[in-house]
Amino acid sequence: MDCIFCKIANKEIPARIAFESDRVIAFHDLFPQAPTHVLVIPKTHISTLNDVPAEQAPVLGELVSAATTIAKELGLADAGYRVVMNCNADGGQSVYHIHLHLLGGRHMAWPPG
Ligand code: 5GP
Ligand code: ZN
Repeated sequence: MDCIFCKIANKEIPARIAFESDRVIAFHDLFPQAPTHVLVIPKTHISTLNDVPAEQAPVLGELVSAATTIAKELGLADAGYRVVMNCNADGGQSVYHIHLHLLGGRHMAWPPG
C-alpha cells in the first residue's frame, strides 16, 4: 500500500519522531501550522475516522493519551493546546491514514476557518 504515514511508521521514510509505543507513533508535521505541530497516528493503517471498527476504537484513546503525554513533555500543557482530527474532504483531510494533530505554542482562534 502506498501510504506515506505507513512508510513513516515503518521507518521507510524519515520523520522527526516525538513519541512511540507499541501501537502509536507521533512525529512533527513537515508543514507546521503552529510552533509545535505533531501528528499522532496508529501504526495500523486506517484510512478515515469512518473506518474505525468498534474493536479498534480503543486506539483512538491511545492517540489522545499520546498527545497529552507529548504536550506535557514539550511544555504545552499549562498554556494549552489543540487536538484536531480531520475526516474526508469537508473536514480537510489530505492524508488518508488517520492522524491526530497536536497544535500548540500560540493562541488559536475559535471557531477555526
Ligand atoms: P490532514 O490535512 O490530512 O489532516 O493532515 C495531514 C498533515 O500531514 C498535514 O498537516 C501535512 O503537512 C502533513 N504531512 C504530509 N506529508 C507529510 C510527510 O511526508 N511528513 C510529515 N512529517 N508530515 C506530512
Ligand atoms: Zn497508512
